Amino acid sequence: MNDSSTGADAVKASAPVTVLAGPTAVGKGTVSAAIRARYPEIWLSVSATTRAPRPGEVDGVHYRFVSEEDFSSLIEAGQMLEWAVVHGRNKYGTPRGPVEEKVAEGRPVLLEIDLAGARQVRESLPEARFVFLAPPDWDTLVHRLVGRGTEDAEERERRLATARVELAAEGEFDVTIVNDTVDRAADELAGLLGVRDLT
Ligand code: 5GP
Repeated sequence: MNDSSTGADAVKASAPVTVLAGPTAVGKGTVSAAIRARYPEIWLSVSATTRAPRPGEVDGVHYRFVSEEDFSSLIEAGQMLEWAVVHGRNKYGTPRGPVEEKVAEGRPVLLEIDLAGARQVRESLPEARFVFLAPPDWDTLVHRLVGRGTEDAEERERRLATARVELAAEGEFDVTIVNDTVDRAADELAGLLGVRDLT
């Protein structure tokens, strides 16, 4: 018996923090919305962001919408577990305090963040569980990225190049969940967190 790997598996099995990441357009937001709706026992971290709210987004529920100044203050005060500039535009980060509170309460905690953020959490919280959300296949991802055909050839190629790099990160993760259907992927994720749908 290999004690060290058994020990590591035991830690992962009870990991209070789970990080969900994956390539752009794979549907992380949709899967976490399904988790929010169907598995209230799971605490979904509310990220701070400098981007403007979209219609229907509620401050404090979907994001904490903050100014550039407030975001910088949170970083300077050491209150960000991780943060990143996403798509070269807006800043997104995970406030540390609420995550620590929920972990102390014993709640399963889920962070839905980008790959750069996931890598930072691996440094600061190596005992977390890292889940990669993958598309069923390359063509599905391409369709979701450039499907509407509204981008020019250069932008299209840029997005596809980014997607190739992002998909190559799968090996850094503990588990892969395929987003074939949103509900199935959400159920698999909830099961991993030890939460079952009782309805
Ligand atoms: P959106 O603006 O569409 O809501 O999110 C854009 C991207 O930001 C998504 O890929 C999402 O995973 C990422 N994101 C959301 N919150 C965080 C966060 O707290 N930290 C990091 N690093 N990325 C985040």
